Amino acid sequence: MSQLDSLTPPDDHDCNEHGFTFNGYQREAHSMACYDGESYPWLALAEEVGEVVTFQSKKERGDDMITRYGSEGNIRNALVKELGDVLWMVSEIATQRGISMQEVANSNIHKLKIRRQENTLKGSDEHDRS
Ligand SMILES: [Mg+2]
Repeated sequence: MSQLDSLTPPDDHDCNEHGFTFNGYQREAHSMACYDGESYPWLALAEEVGEVVTFQSKKERGDDMITRYGSEGNIRNALVKELGDVLWMVSEIATQRGISMQEVANSNIHKLKIRRQENTLKGSDEHDRS
Protein backbone atom coordinates (compact mmCIF):
# COMPACT_ATOMS: atom_id res chain seq x y z
CA MET A 1 0.00 0.00 0.00
CA SER A 2 1.41 3.34 -1.00
CA GLN A 3 1.19 6.48 1.10
CA LEU A 4 -1.56 7.81 -1.14
CA ASP A 5 -3.61 4.61 -0.88
CA SER A 6 -3.86 5.20 2.84
CA LEU A 7 -5.21 8.71 2.22
CA THR A 8 -8.10 7.58 0.10
CA PRO A 9 -11.17 5.85 1.43
CA PRO A 10 -11.77 2.50 -0.25
CA ASP A 11 -15.05 3.65 -1.78
CA ASP A 12 -13.42 6.63 -3.51
CA HIS A 13 -13.31 6.20 -7.26
CA ASP A 14 -10.57 7.58 -9.43
CA CYS A 15 -13.01 8.91 -12.00
CA ASN A 16 -16.59 10.06 -12.24
CA GLU A 17 -18.72 11.36 -15.11
CA HIS A 18 -16.57 14.52 -15.23
CA GLY A 19 -13.19 12.76 -15.36
CA PHE A 20 -10.70 12.27 -12.58
CA THR A 21 -11.69 12.89 -8.99
CA PHE A 22 -9.17 14.92 -7.02
CA ASN A 23 -7.81 11.84 -5.32
CA GLY A 24 -7.92 9.82 -8.52
CA TYR A 25 -5.86 12.50 -10.21
CA GLN A 26 -3.42 12.51 -7.31
CA ARG A 27 -2.98 8.76 -7.43
CA GLU A 28 -2.49 8.73 -11.22
CA ALA A 29 -0.15 11.73 -11.14
CA HIS A 30 1.96 10.15 -8.42
CA SER A 31 2.31 6.97 -10.46
CA MET A 32 4.33 9.06 -12.94
CA ALA A 33 6.64 10.64 -10.39
CA CYS A 34 10.27 10.00 -11.27
CA TYR A 35 12.61 12.03 -9.09
CA ASP A 36 14.88 11.37 -6.14
CA GLY A 37 14.50 13.10 -2.80
CA GLU A 38 11.70 15.55 -2.13
CA SER A 39 12.89 18.86 -3.56
CA TYR A 40 11.90 18.52 -7.19
CA PRO A 41 8.16 19.37 -6.98
CA TRP A 42 8.79 22.17 -4.47
CA LEU A 43 11.32 23.87 -6.72
CA ALA A 44 9.62 23.06 -10.01
CA LEU A 45 6.32 24.52 -8.75
CA ALA A 46 7.87 27.97 -8.88
CA GLU A 47 9.13 27.29 -12.40
CA GLU A 48 5.72 26.10 -13.58
CA VAL A 49 3.91 29.04 -11.97
CA GLY A 50 6.30 31.27 -13.89
CA GLU A 51 5.36 29.52 -17.12
CA VAL A 52 1.67 30.17 -16.39
CA VAL A 53 2.29 33.82 -15.53
CA THR A 54 4.11 34.25 -18.84
CA PHE A 55 0.84 33.89 -20.72
CA GLN A 56 -0.51 37.03 -19.05
CA SER A 57 2.74 39.01 -18.95
CA LYS A 58 3.37 38.48 -22.66
CA LYS A 59 -0.22 39.37 -23.45
CA GLU A 60 0.06 42.60 -21.46
CA ARG A 61 3.39 43.39 -23.11
CA GLY A 62 1.72 43.03 -26.47
CA ASP A 63 3.65 40.00 -27.71
CA ASP A 64 2.29 38.32 -30.80
CA MET A 65 1.14 35.08 -29.23
CA ILE A 66 -0.70 33.98 -32.39
CA THR A 67 2.55 33.89 -34.35
CA ARG A 68 4.15 31.80 -31.63
CA TYR A 69 1.25 29.39 -31.05
CA GLY A 70 -0.67 29.59 -34.33
CA SER A 71 -4.16 30.24 -32.98
CA GLU A 72 -6.15 31.29 -29.92
CA GLY A 73 -7.06 27.63 -29.48
CA ASN A 74 -3.41 26.64 -29.38
CA ILE A 75 -2.68 29.38 -26.85
CA ARG A 76 -5.50 28.06 -24.68
CA ASN A 77 -4.24 24.48 -25.03
CA ALA A 78 -0.72 25.53 -24.07
CA LEU A 79 -2.07 27.32 -20.99
CA VAL A 80 -4.07 24.22 -20.06
CA LYS A 81 -0.87 22.18 -20.20
CA GLU A 82 1.04 24.63 -18.02
CA LEU A 83 -1.80 24.78 -15.49
CA GLY A 84 -1.64 20.99 -15.45
CA ASP A 85 2.07 21.15 -14.68
CA VAL A 86 1.27 23.39 -11.69
CA LEU A 87 -1.42 20.94 -10.59
CA TRP A 88 1.00 18.02 -10.81
CA MET A 89 3.57 19.79 -8.63
CA VAL A 90 0.92 20.72 -6.05
CA SER A 91 -0.34 17.15 -6.06
CA GLU A 92 3.15 15.75 -5.50
CA ILE A 93 3.81 18.13 -2.62
CA ALA A 94 0.51 17.10 -1.05
CA THR A 95 1.37 13.43 -1.51
CA GLN A 96 4.75 13.87 0.15
CA ARG A 97 3.08 15.42 3.20
CA GLY A 98 0.25 12.88 3.40
CA ILE A 99 -2.42 15.34 2.29
CA SER A 100 -5.09 14.33 -0.19
CA MET A 101 -6.01 16.65 -3.04
CA GLN A 102 -9.64 16.26 -1.97
CA GLU A 103 -8.70 17.74 1.40
CA VAL A 104 -6.90 20.60 -0.33
CA ALA A 105 -9.94 21.35 -2.48
CA ASN A 106 -12.42 21.03 0.37
CA SER A 107 -10.31 23.17 2.69
CA ASN A 108 -9.91 25.89 0.08
CA ILE A 109 -13.64 26.12 -0.67
CA HIS A 110 -14.45 26.06 3.06
CA LYS A 111 -12.03 28.94 3.68
CA LEU A 112 -13.46 30.95 0.79
CA LYS A 113 -17.05 30.37 1.91
CA ILE A 114 -16.20 31.73 5.35
CA ARG A 115 -14.60 34.77 3.78
CA ARG A 116 -17.66 35.28 1.59
CA GLN A 117 -19.92 35.07 4.66
CA GLU A 118 -17.69 37.62 6.39
CA ASN A 119 -17.67 39.75 3.24
CA THR A 120 -13.86 39.58 3.18
CA LEU A 121 -13.25 37.85 -0.14
CA LYS A 122 -11.91 41.11 -1.47
CA GLY A 123 -9.79 43.67 0.28
CA SER A 124 -6.48 44.23 1.94
CA ASP A 125 -4.54 41.45 3.67
CA GLU A 126 -3.52 43.57 6.63
CA HIS A 127 -4.15 40.62 8.97
CA ASP A 128 -1.99 38.11 7.02
CA ARG A 129 -4.68 35.49 6.61
CA SER A 130 -3.72 32.20 5.06
MG1 LIG B 1 5.52 23.49 -17.85
